Amino acid sequence: MPQLGLELKAMTTDYMEFECMACSKMFSRLWFDISRSYDRVHYKHPRAPDEVEVSMSEGIGIFCSAACLEASRDRVMRDQGVLIPRVRPGIEPIECCAKCAGPVDMSDWHLTFSEALLEEQAHARVGTHEFEYLAVVCKRCAPKFGTMRSIEIEDREPSSSTPAKSPSGLMEKAC
Ligand SMILES: [Zn+2]
Ligand SMILES: [Zn+2]
Repeated sequence: MPQLGLELKAMTTDYMEFECMACSKMFSRLWFDISRSYDRVHYKHPRAPDEVEVSMSEGIGIFCSAACLEASRDRVMRDQGVLIPRVRPGIEPIECCAKCAGPVDMSDWHLTFSEALLEEQAHARVGTHEFEYLAVVCKRCAPKFGTMRSIEIEDREPSSSTPAKSPSGLMEKAC
């Protein structure tokens, strides 16, 4: 995140300066980012490419190198209460929830964690060089997500009185 007094410095270097969350090095231009957001996918099978609609995206990790990202990724996610599944999600219509292993309807709003290599470009634009999903979380495990008021995940375990009752067809993918 930009710090106070950054603006003066930015005028001489042209680029924002960041502090790596792992090694505390100051750096700019290219950064490895971990973000969380609310996404939903607009599937346009079979010919048009699918479109991912992103809402409330927020950076939760910023690193100077792939090595610093590697060293910190698990801790950043643990702080979010979400573990990265062995098989990382893609954008199939149904992906697996990282908390309960239940189905996530990707066409509906859901909590998404992703990482990317980003680059600051001219005119305050940000280019994305590499992008990968780390985890997706279902509505049952991120219950506030339906209201869009908060993106905090509740620490409370899902109540045993509300078993996962999925609409038929949603359980086709083995998680
Ligand atoms: Zn670093
Ligand atoms: Zn879940």
